[in-house]
Amino acid sequence: REYSSAYGETGTRIVKVGDVQFGAPEPVFIAGPCAVENRDDLFRIAEQCKAAGAHILRGGVFKPRSSVHSFQGLGSAGHDEAIEALTWLREAGRTFGMPVVTEVRGEAQVDLVAEFVDIIQIGARNMYDQDLLQTAARKKLPVMFKRHFGASVEEFLCFAEYIAAEGNKDIILCERGIVPMGKGKNYTRYMLDLAAVPVVQKETFLPIIVDPSHATGRRDLIRSMSLASIAAGAAGLMIEVHDRPEDARCDASQMIQPSELKEIIAAARQLRTIA
Ligand code: PEP
Ligand code: MN
Repeated sequence: REYSSAYGETGTRIVKVGDVQFGAPEPVFIAGPCAVENRDDLFRIAEQCKAAGAHILRGGVFKPRSSVHSFQGLGSAGHDEAIEALTWLREAGRTFGMPVVTEVRGEAQVDLVAEFVDIIQIGARNMYDQDLLQTAARKKLPVMFKRHFGASVEEFLCFAEYIAAEGNKDIILCERGIVPMGKGKNYTRYMLDLAAVPVVQKETFLPIIVDPSHATGRRDLIRSMSLASIAAGAAGLMIEVHDRPEDARCDASQMIQPSELKEIIAAARQLRTIA
């Protein structure tokens, strides 16, 4: 097999981010808006995510949108805007006691983003970008590595090894859904591949989390898919949260309320004790 031979580890690796541990018995909850849009919204949402029990704050600064005419994230507006948005993210995390994660969409963003975050996110669309993986890995920060929607599990693990081969084994894998099959309507944005969770755990030592938000694109499915992910053994969840989704400039249909996040976290913790 092509992957994991160079990892030189067995069992489960605990990836530590401050006091938070991915791969420990307690599941980790990453929450926050799809994008960082302004300081007030971010701080208000971050405070509510923390109160709901979230450990880590997310928020996109460089957004990988399908259309060039869609909101690209404040980071894409210019260097000053990028610094401003990253500063808000870091401040919100510090204020409410949460490490922060944001995506790097290209190599040119890695140096800047690494100055502000605790985890570097590589998005699904960039899973195959070897140069980006290597550049991000060299920052010596944990890397959250999302599966491409067209990638097999084997390919996903092969590409994760580009990060490990740089000497950075602090990799948090993330299942976020694959391209659905068939001609008709599928009713979800992608198809959540939950079997990937126990498979990855058997094949490698890395912790794997699930992102039910991008997998489904539907807020009414977040609770059931979150609990199913925990039952499948996921080390954590990344969930998009907004208390005023109608104001959001992206992914409004999938962001849940902080009150619902709180219920999901409580239910997930209970489930973990029996699953
Ligand atoms: C995200 O997590 O912000 C995101 C864009 O997800 P994905 O790369 O899985 O589409
Ligand atoms: Mn999103």
